[in-house]
Order: sequence, then structure tokens, then C-alpha cells
Amino acid sequence: MLSLNDYLRDAEQAHGHLCAGQVLGVRMAMLGLAKLGIEDPHGKDRKRLVTFVEIDRCATDAISVVTGCRLGKRALKFRDWGKMAATFVDLESGKAIRIAAKESSKKLAREMHPELESKNQQQMLAYREMPADDLFAMQWVKVELLAEEFPGYKGERTVCAQCGEGINFRREVELNGRILCRACAGERYYRPE
Ligand SMILES: [Zn+2]
Ligand SMILES: [Zn+2]
Repeated sequence: MLSLNDYLRDAEQAHGHLCAGQVLGVRMAMLGLAKLGIEDPHGKDRKRLVTFVEIDRCATDAISVVTGCRLGKRALKFRDWGKMAATFVDLESGKAIRIAAKESSKKLAREMHPELESKNQQQMLAYREMPADDLFAMQWVKVELLAEEFPGYKGERTVCAQCGEGINFRREVELNGRILCRACAGERYYRPE
């Protein structure tokens, strides 16, 4: 593992700026890896980890930088719950730890650095210095992953009977005896113009 400063430098590069969320994300991921005993997430341990993130903000990019887990590798799972939290799953040991930023850490950051003007500056500095127990709540958890959720899984592919687009394993839906993609089955987030 790299140092906090090294990861922050990498995170800044990947994300475009350094912010309090990046600091939180880097520390959260470093803590998760340490608790699981994963030392080399980009090297020999790169296939050991799956990470669930519960927010689509700055911290998520930082978590991805530290863990090496990415959406395109199926190793990063997004649950849109609006919470500054992530669960780190060790596929080798079956252990998993969920780490959430404490709401009280914001107030603590204000108290630690009243001399700084902006909230972001206060938090950026305080989140570097704060003991992990003040910053995070931790919990060992169990995560059941289906075969098709593992990074390397390759399965069958089918074609939607309505739009003709290809669908990877088990994302299809059966409706009135037809095999459909989720969009054609009614879950679409877009509509044709
Ligand atoms: Zn940011
Ligand atoms: Zn379709």
C-alpha cells in the first residue's frame, strides 16, 4: 500500500481536484484494505477485492483509485443510497467490512480548525488528521455475491425480442412469454424522441 499522501496525489489526478470527499474516500479505502489484510490491491491482490459504494460523489472516485476496483471490471458495485459508505469484500477469505463516515465528523472538523475559513478547507485538513474511530463507523458484514456478479464471470447472452439489442446473462426479463431487455419490459430511464 502507498501512503495517504501518495494516494491523495493519485486521487487528485484521477478526479481533477483535491477535496474533502477525496480525503474521506482515500482514508476509507485504506482502512478497508488494512482491515482485510489486503496489501497490494493493484498487484498480487488485484483479483481479491469487490467494493460496493453507496454514493456517486467525490469519495467514490478516490475509493476506486485506492482499491483498483472499477465499474468496467465488475469489481465496483454502485448502490444509489446517497450515503458516504462503502463495503469492501475479500473474495479470498469471504470477509467483508462496511465503513461509513460519521455525521459527527463534520462538526469535529469545524472544532479542530476554526481558524480556516471554508468548510471544505476545514474538512480537508481535519479528515487527514482525525483518528479513524472519530471519522468512521465500521462493521463486519456478510455479502452474498451471485456467480454473475464476480469480476471474471462469463455467461450466456441473449437478444431482446422487442428491440433486438444483446443482453448479458440474466439481465433479461420474461414478460407474457417473451424475453425482453429491462428497458422494453418497462424499466427504461429514457424515452425515444
Ligand atoms: Zn471532489
Ligand atoms: Zn429491448
